[in-house]
Amino acid sequence: MKYVFFRISSLALFAALATACSKEELTTPASPTTAGVSQDASRDSNLALGNPSGAVTDADNSPNNYLMTKTQYTLSYSRDKGKPNWVSWHLGNAWLGSTSRQNNFAADATLPSGWYRAGSTSYSGSGFDRGHVCPSADRTSSTADNSATFLMTNMMPQASTNNQRTWAGLETYGRTLVDEGYEVYIIAGSYGRGGTGANGFATTISSGRITVPSNCWKVMVVLPEGSDDASRVTAATRVIAVDMPNTNAIGTAWGSYRTSVDAIESATGYDILSAVPNTVQETIESRVDNGPTS
Ligand code: MN
Ligand code: MN
Repeated sequence: MKYVFFRISSLALFAALATACSKEELTTPASPTTAGVSQDASRDSNLALGNPSGAVTDADNSPNNYLMTKTQYTLSYSRDKGKPNWVSWHLGNAWLGSTSRQNNFAADATLPSGWYRAGSTSYSGSGFDRGHVCPSADRTSSTADNSATFLMTNMMPQASTNNQRTWAGLETYGRTLVDEGYEVYIIAGSYGRGGTGANGFATTISSGRITVPSNCWKVMVVLPEGSDDASRVTAATRVIAVDMPNTNAIGTAWGSYRTSVDAIESATGYDILSAVPNTVQETIESRVDNGPTS
């Protein structure tokens, strides 16, 4: 119960601070220490570990690597694929509360005018789920935060077995790590063309305007709760990377889809964790996690 009290009280305080302050990193004042839970829960920059594709907010010159910065997450959007390339976010106690799932899927009105905007029904009948990249359950401290995850710029067409079981299993594990006293930086996205959903194989949906990816990937950097996060990533830091086929034939255990960050970088052409010193990247990006999965 102490733990629950800590979370709610710090979030209420944080909500008040957030409206009054535009700093990128906000730290709550000291809270009572409780066993296993840090007293330093804060919302840290969603892009603290780097911009994997060098995305920029330039609609004319970079429509397929278009940077969108929201309070709740940061992403690179592809106009021609109608979905994000990647989404990056910070997960920690200060983002978690008791807000229920809003289910208010909506077009993202902040996309440049004249671009196709996927809407709440754009995936209907396609055989693919509206798969959150930044999960609803990672942003539960306010209605506004949770609603932001339902913007269609945060969705990818995902086979339901992948989305609802394998991918969801790793999402849940991320929040388990927070409960254990960690904060987690998550960068996730999709690549390739063609997946197999409830209606069989497809390369696009919504009359060709949204690409169905062949693979969904995620990288999670796990740190004990604290500050100055990018500088605390060392060769010993746990990094979980997965690459999952976008098919209903996928197995249920997320742990069996673990791979190296290097392999995802090869598949995507991105430099993931670019804000981490190169010598550290070399070590943590070549390793395949074999830690606990629940
Ligand atoms: Mn999902
Ligand atoms: Mn890298």
